[in-house]
Amino acid sequence: MTIDSATHRPAPAETNFLPGPVLLLGAPGVGKGTQAKSLMAEFGIPQISTGDLLRGNIAKGTELGKTARSLMDQGQLVSDDLVNQMVADRLAQPDVVRGYILDGFPRTLNQAEWVDREIASKAGTLPIVAISIVVSYDQLLHRITGRRISPAGRIYNVYSNPPVVSGICDVDGSVLVQRSDDSEVVFTERMKTFEAQTAPVVEHYRRQGRFEEVNGDQAVEQVTVEITAALKRLRQKGPKS
Ligand code: AMP
Repeated sequence: MTIDSATHRPAPAETNFLPGPVLLLGAPGVGKGTQAKSLMAEFGIPQISTGDLLRGNIAKGTELGKTARSLMDQGQLVSDDLVNQMVADRLAQPDVVRGYILDGFPRTLNQAEWVDREIASKAGTLPIVAISIVVSYDQLLHRITGRRISPAGRIYNVYSNPPVVSGICDVDGSVLVQRSDDSEVVFTERMKTFEAQTAPVVEHYRRQGRFEEVNGDQAVEQVTVEITAALKRLRQKGPKS
């Protein structure tokens, strides 16, 4: 978020830069959700998190939620068809016209090939840019097992970003919860799933060229600065570069 030096308030979201479709890639716990929220504020475009959409389905008790729950609790992926359909429905909404941040999707080569086709088929849409956040394994473990979330989606960490009162959201006083898949056992499974199924997706976008890697082992604000700069560079690339 940019702070206006005259008013000391957050500056309005940038509206003259067109972000287009942005993929935020990276292992569980690299900070995709946190960074997506900053980019949302900076550019005024929505975050589309497949993990959040699935958790929303679980909370509502839908059929999709029932199917997804046990897979998520074991650190495994929900099937490509179900997730692709969920993303297709979300991309049909009008708030995506200037762009959007896909967070946690695509996670398999099948999903990547599907989304490449889906986006290319929409007239007037900018090409996909992909930004991969990289963080060391030990840091990830700390981030995942220390993560606590408010019902409104604010993210804290008991080690690196604790709330003022333990277990309570600073902003709205709600009780913070730990995601059921943020235990060390499930984290290990999620990392195995990432290496086997999602690492090839990162390579897929690296090969396509409109791709940058950002070091996520830095202060949250610095990571945001670097992602924003990478996004602007990637959008200046010509159609074939
Ligand atoms: P996240 O909140 O992105 O860490 O996702 C939590 C869990 O939701 C993952 O461990 C998967 O079980 C499931 N999930 C989220 N996104 C996807 C996806 N693109 N494909 C398959 N499963 C997903």
